[in-house]
Amino acid sequence: MTTTETELQEFRLFIGGRSVDALSGATFESQDPYAERPWARIADGGPEDVDVAVGAARAAFDGEWGQTTGFQRAAVMRACGDAIAADAERLALLEVRDSGKLLREMRGQLQALPQWYWYFSGLADKLEGRTVPPVNGNYFGYTRREPVGVVGAITPWNSPLLLLTFKLAPLLAAGNTCVVKPSEHSPASTVAFAEVLSAAGLPDGVLNVVTGWDRATGERLAAHPGVDKVAFTGSTATGIRVAQAAAANVNRVTLELGGKSPQIVFPDADLDAAANGLVAGVFAATGQTCMAGSRLVVHADVHDALVEKVVARARTIRLGDPTDPETEMGPVANRPQYEKVLGHLRGAREEGATFACGGGAAADRGGLFVEPTVVTGVTPEHTVVREEVFGPVLAAVPFTTEEEALKLANDTPYGLAGAVWTKDVHRAHRVAARLRAGTVWVNAYRVVAPNMPFGGFGHSGLGRENGMEAVNEYTETKSVFVELTGGTRDPFQLG
Ligand code: NAD
Repeated sequence: MTTTETELQEFRLFIGGRSVDALSGATFESQDPYAERPWARIADGGPEDVDVAVGAARAAFDGEWGQTTGFQRAAVMRACGDAIAADAERLALLEVRDSGKLLREMRGQLQALPQWYWYFSGLADKLEGRTVPPVNGNYFGYTRREPVGVVGAITPWNSPLLLLTFKLAPLLAAGNTCVVKPSEHSPASTVAFAEVLSAAGLPDGVLNVVTGWDRATGERLAAHPGVDKVAFTGSTATGIRVAQAAAANVNRVTLELGGKSPQIVFPDADLDAAANGLVAGVFAATGQTCMAGSRLVVHADVHDALVEKVVARARTIRLGDPTDPETEMGPVANRPQYEKVLGHLRGAREEGATFACGGGAAADRGGLFVEPTVVTGVTPEHTVVREEVFGPVLAAVPFTTEEEALKLANDTPYGLAGAVWTKDVHRAHRVAARLRAGTVWVNAYRVVAPNMPFGGFGHSGLGRENGMEAVNEYTETKSVFVELTGGTRDPFQLG
């Protein structure tokens, strides 16, 4: 990473342990969504650069890294965690510049990130097979867990490093190598991150980064015959295309896709806590998270009181400079997303929704700011209740019975997350069990941890990141039969 005379910071591809230009020599500019001007010049890698990066990842896999023991990988990963901790502030600031995320959130994320490398370093030396009791005494059987090989990782613009880490930490623990293609809207931090891990001792070629403006770059990685597994986070529509491309190579995929996650609030809930959880769920990160709790399913008896509390807080949310510690909501991360959110708000108005607060661009702020918005007077048929907005928009729907609450909550093709707000312990567990979602919070929202599996039901995804389950996504199981007698057998019989 260097700064040029034009003051644009420069980020090149990172392939085989070296910073390199795109083969075409092309670059593109990355926008700071708060300043609304370019702040970085990025190498514009294309399919041909993906080919080179996959070659480097394959060479590392076939070379020394592929021969490492779990103990050796664990040591490298611990050093990576330490290096991220040491550089957390700089990496956080890069994400703030690229995506307008709040520095106060990114500081927390980057300080938490080393935990992923430390946690998964603890699993690297515990990837054990098992011995299997013989069906036939002539054979001894055991299994081995082996790395899948070269992983193609494709990440979105919201929280690029966290979402990369969900993939990278378990895949490194299992002994794989990786080519990552970050979003064209926020590519810088991933390049800097690869440089940090390389300096910390990650061998050349184990992590390669190809940035590129055109979607053909990601398409090439998803469809690459030299890739053994594809790990993707982003929209459901793109995820389906990525899975189709991977299927053509009979490759495994992990998909972390969109959501329309419900927060169910029962009348006995602590309404102040629930209101706070709703704010965390849909206004934090300007609502640009896959797990946004964007549907409020609330008992009719407390609907008005709860909406009033959320609206009161929403009206005091401080919009502004993402680097200011006082700011609570930054801009939308890029102009296409800003237009998309405003389009949803216009659509909701046309479909007859009521706006308890917000409803459009934050006119006094200008730029890419959108007002924190609470929509009422809607039914499950309204588009704003059905579709992912990926912005600061909460839609409230009332219920009267627990059964109805569950029906409303599960009435979605998605199934990423959800919350139950109640003081009744029986109901909390009953409802958590029946919610069709990969993560359920009880009296909380937006908590993730390296050791808790994360992923979606339905159109929210395939497979799990985080937790021990994540390592399984990056290993193949091999069965080994060993003949014990030294004799020969009838070659025309099975077994
Ligand atoms: P996207 O799904 O279009 O892109 C995600 C990543 O996939 C990017 O790196 C992109 O370059 C790459 N990509 C795009 N087309 C590809 C293809 N055909 N093959 C391989 N890779 C491809 O998401 P986006 O453009 O970042 O945002 C679009 C919408 O997705 C947003 O409006 C938002 O609603 C949603 N989104 C969801 C999440 C999530 O975590 N669920 C994250 C970001 C965005």
